[in-house]
Amino acid sequence: MALTKTNEREQTKVSKSPQPIRGNQGASIMGPTNPSREAENQDTLVPPSMDHGTMANMRWSFADSHMHLSEGGWGRQTTMRELPSAKEAAGVNMRLTAGGVRELHWHTAAEWAYMLKGRARITAIDQDSRAFQDDVGEGDLWYFPAGIPHSIQGLEPDGCEFLLVFDDGNFSEEATFLLSDWLAHTPKDILAKNFGVPESAFDHIPQKDLWIFQAQVPGPLSQDRVAGRGPVPNTFSHHMRAQEPIRTKGGTVRITDSSLFKASKTIASAFVEIEPGGMRELHWHPNADEWQYYISGEARMTVFAAENNARTFNFQAGDVGSVPFAMGHYIENIGSETLRFLEIFRSDHYADVSLAQWLKFTPHELVRAHLNIDESVLVKIPENKTPVVAAKAA
Ligand code: MN
Ligand code: MN
Repeated sequence: MALTKTNEREQTKVSKSPQPIRGNQGASIMGPTNPSREAENQDTLVPPSMDHGTMANMRWSFADSHMHLSEGGWGRQTTMRELPSAKEAAGVNMRLTAGGVRELHWHTAAEWAYMLKGRARITAIDQDSRAFQDDVGEGDLWYFPAGIPHSIQGLEPDGCEFLLVFDDGNFSEEATFLLSDWLAHTPKDILAKNFGVPESAFDHIPQKDLWIFQAQVPGPLSQDRVAGRGPVPNTFSHHMRAQEPIRTKGGTVRITDSSLFKASKTIASAFVEIEPGGMRELHWHPNADEWQYYISGEARMTVFAAENNARTFNFQAGDVGSVPFAMGHYIENIGSETLRFLEIFRSDHYADVSLAQWLKFTPHELVRAHLNIDESVLVKIPENKTPVVAAKAA
């Protein structure tokens, strides 16, 4: 029986033990198989018939990343080593217990972060010794420019978990400049001379780096504050989820870039919520690759790569997606709960080009000559950008 394209897509969506069969093509798997993996990636097992060509992988799950365990927390990363198509950004998923510290450090890349759960105290100073300390919670961001030293500590009751994104796909969380590591590689007499104290003052410093370690939960921020040489000119934290979103029938979008979060000069982001059946409209980005982190729900994304190539991927919570520069894409909520994900760009500003707006604002006769569509399609496109479209056409 021939299936319509819609039926074919809906069939793969609901199947619990999918087989590589599409209409009269394919056959069941006879040999070794990993059914749970295949069920998670149904659009890889049974690609939509429009998919074509040899395309790079654009999906990775933090579940497949090496876990670095430490007393006080853990970290795991998704970089170019895990996901080679994502060249402009790398991500780290990190957990700190209450009191657990990601030790004082700096690195070559800038660090942008989104707090997933819990609360943390973050600290930094800049090159003019201006100091920054703040407490951040779920939905908050921070941004530390490249080379600026900082720390993160979990607060009560149960610490925190967050996503870090660095503006360099080759970044490694294992290759950061750690306070303890530097001091362990500096002669004691040099330390004594630097601080003007006896060498014995450094008898008990760590012999090797701490990276993440367990410490006491700090007191209230008001008591913990150090003024430094005044405050940093642009705060390093931002309440992203407190922003009023762009609301459409299909969901919401919050966009945060350096126009709103001034310190965040190399990372722009969007927090997207899509209701079941809804879709992030067909679009592309004229300024950067897109690096995605999925927070909840189930998604399908097809990436169009020119030269007759397109490939579809599935995503769920804890997955990372990548869309190389300028490639067209949409993201559809194929689950039964709200889809939430972050779009992250190595740029000072957020930008996307909407397919619908492009066609709306191009002479219609020219568009119709290309696509052989009725004027009613073009008339129906709203005057304003609709980043998330709803499940059913009215
Ligand atoms: Mn860092
Ligand atoms: Mn996009």
